[in-house]
Amino acid sequence: MIPPAFEYTRPTSVDEAVRALAGAGEEAKVLAGGQSLLPLLRLRLAFPELVVDVGRIPELRGVREDGDALVIGALTTHHEVVHDPLVRAHAGLLAQATATVADPAVRHRGTLGGSLAHADPAGDLPAVALALDAELVVAGPGGRRTIPAREFFVDYLQSALAPDELLTEVRIPKRDGWGFHYEKFHPVAQSWAIVGVAALVRRADGGVAEARVGLTNMGATPLRATTAERELAGADDSAAVARAAEAAAEGTRPSQDLSASPEYRQHLARVLTRRAVLTAAGMG
Ligand SMILES: Cc1cc2nc3c(=O)[nH]c(=O)nc-3n(C[C@H](O)[C@H](O)[C@H](O)COP(=O)(O)OP(=O)(O)OC[C@H]3O[C@@H](n4cnc5c(N)ncnc54)[C@H](O)[C@@H]3O)c2cc1C
Repeated sequence: MIPPAFEYTRPTSVDEAVRALAGAGEEAKVLAGGQSLLPLLRLRLAFPELVVDVGRIPELRGVREDGDALVIGALTTHHEVVHDPLVRAHAGLLAQATATVADPAVRHRGTLGGSLAHADPAGDLPAVALALDAELVVAGPGGRRTIPAREFFVDYLQSALAPDELLTEVRIPKRDGWGFHYEKFHPVAQSWAIVGVAALVRRADGGVAEARVGLTNMGATPLRATTAERELAGADDSAAVARAAEAAAEGTRPSQDLSASPEYRQHLARVLTRRAVLTAAGMG
C-alpha cells in the first residue's frame, strides 16, 4: 500500500529535530529505522503531517561508558547493539535479547530507541530495559529530562514521550558479574515472542541473592514480575527457583490472539521464568 502524503524533513542535529517537532505538535512523527513506522504508514494506521527523519544525526548513534552506566544512542541499530563490545561486557542481557529480534535485515535498520519509543509490549527490548532498570533520556523544547524505564511504558503502544520530544539515549547501569538470560518462546525462528522473559541474577553461594525479571507480551505494557523477584531472593536450589517462578504471572493480564490464550501465556511466563532464572543463576 502507498502511505498517505506527508511533509518530510531530515535534520542533522538534535536541536534541529526538536525545533521541527515543536513546530508540528501532535501532527509529527519521528522516523528512525522505519521497521515499525513504515508498515503503519503503508497500512494507513498512522497519518502524520510531518515525518522527522532522525537517521542522519550522528550524535544519536553509538555506545559509550559514563562511570557506572553504559550510554547507548537511540539510533544505534540492533545489529550494532548485538556486536558492541561494551554492551556485551556490561549489558549482556541486552545484547542477547537483541540478537533474537526479527532477522538480520530488520536488525540492520531497526534501532534501540525506535523499539523503546514504539512501546510494543510484544517487542523484546522494553522488558529488557525494565529488567535492567534503564533510564531514557529525552530532548524537547524545554531541554532534556530522564525517564526511568518503569515510568516510560504507559499503555499499549504508548510511552511517556510527549509528541514534541525525541528519545536521545538509553542509560543502563552496569551489572558486571550478574548472570543473565533472555528466554523467548516464539512459534518460528526470527519472529515475535508469544511470551519472553528477561532474567538478571546476582548470584551468591551457588544460589540467587537477588533477581530482576522482565516480562514480554504479558499485558498492555512490558512488566516486572515483582512477586516472583521477591520470592527468588535467597533461592538456593532449583526447587526453590521453581517455586518462586510459579508467581511470575501474578498480576498480569495477557492478551488473547491467534497464537495463544491468556491462560497459556500465563503458563508460559511461569515456565520461561524458571528456565531463564536457572540459566542466569548458572543452576540450569
Ligand atoms: C518483520 C519484522 C519482524 C520484527 N520482529 C521483531 C521481534 O521479534 N522483536 C522485536 O522486539 N521487534 C521486532 N520488530 C520490530 C523492530 O524491532 C523495529 O526495529 C522496532 O520496533 C522499531 O525500531 P525502528 O528504529 O525501526 O523505529 P521506527 O519504525 O522508525 O519508529 C517506531 C516508532 O518509534 C518512534 N521513534 C523512533 N525513534 C524515536 C526516537 N529516537 N525518539 C522518539 N520517537 C522515536 C517513531 O515515531 C515510531 O512511532 C520486527 C519488525 C519487522 C518489520
